[in-house]
Amino acid sequence: MNEKGTIMAKKRPTLIVNHENLRHNMSTVVGWCRDAGIDVAGVIKVTTGMASAALDYESCGAKWIASSRIEQLERAREAGVKIPLLMIRVPMLSELDEVVKICDYSLQSSVDTLKAINEAAARNGRVHNVILMADLGDLREGFFEKEELADVAVYVEKNLDSLHLAGIGTNLGCVGSVKPTKEKMDMLADWAEAVEEAIGRPLEIVSGGATSSLMPLFDGVMNPKVNMLRIGAVAYIGPLEDLRTCYGRKEVEVLSDECFILEAEVIETNTKPTHPIGELGVDASGKVVKYVDRGRRRRAILAVGRADYGDIDDIVPVLEGAEVAMASGDHTILDIEDCKEQLRVGDIVRLKVKYSALMRLTASENITIEEINRQ
Ligand SMILES: *Cc1c(COP(=O)(O)O)cnc(C)c1O
Repeated sequence: MNEKGTIMAKKRPTLIVNHENLRHNMSTVVGWCRDAGIDVAGVIKVTTGMASAALDYESCGAKWIASSRIEQLERAREAGVKIPLLMIRVPMLSELDEVVKICDYSLQSSVDTLKAINEAAARNGRVHNVILMADLGDLREGFFEKEELADVAVYVEKNLDSLHLAGIGTNLGCVGSVKPTKEKMDMLADWAEAVEEAIGRPLEIVSGGATSSLMPLFDGVMNPKVNMLRIGAVAYIGPLEDLRTCYGRKEVEVLSDECFILEAEVIETNTKPTHPIGELGVDASGKVVKYVDRGRRRRAILAVGRADYGDIDDIVPVLEGAEVAMASGDHTILDIEDCKEQLRVGDIVRLKVKYSALMRLTASENITIEEINRQ
């Protein structure tokens, strides 16, 4: 209600953030890792750096808050996050002053950047912690040869006085789809030992990857040298998108897939043919689409679209029997023929959201974010 006493409609579409479910997931993940002697860096990038999610992760026992974007880490700090901040995209030369001022740790994979960030740290009166990345075959960031990694580690240790070499790490299951197998974790441990031998002291951090590196942990084959995982996806989407997280592992089923729910309003319901009528060309995004003729079926149009969430495969209706049929930038056509419940104009439909949809929805200015069960 506003001050004139009229009922104010909620602005939609709305993304409901259920912090209780989120904390359930985060503390479960932190618990799994703790039992294996591993600390969690809580990655917040999929929420576009929602500071309340960073605070949840901190309260659930994460040891670092991590993101690929410096602004997101800055927001987390401003919101009161006390634990160290970790920049997980190898930084740009143009942002090194911000990186050393805002973050305590960063991932690094190039000598030029290491020299420059050493200068930035000196200029800002800081000692910055670096984790050198090893590319074990996924072909994203990292040094590709063990000897090169060890040489760079020695160089950082001896020559870059404003840096502290905190450890090494790797990233798998990303651009190259390489699975974090026992062999890859053993290889990382071997590279860590080579670095330790070269610098003559133990490393504090051996960072074994992201959500998918929970698989060797579930199998009990995680190399004991690995003591950090950087976990995002599974904490936010749980078992909803099992390939993206842990390849359908049943361990993940104890997590909630209702941390984020998209609420959209029905703007039309009708019974219509399922195959378009007329000469077919391309759809709104310029693609040739194959339509399946299922006869006339009951449909509902939602006032939310691909401009908000991206791909229709990334949203899942909670309503039993409902199916996302097609979408344009601002409309989503829901097939509701098989629903027991009938939808009417003005009703609200709830949708679960997968990783890419969550990333887009949290970044969109068209979405109202409503947070419940905040601590
Ligand atoms: C995104 C990212 C992560 C987290 O990955 P999830 O699959 O979301 O757990 C970890 N490390 C790096 C370097 C990343 O870029």
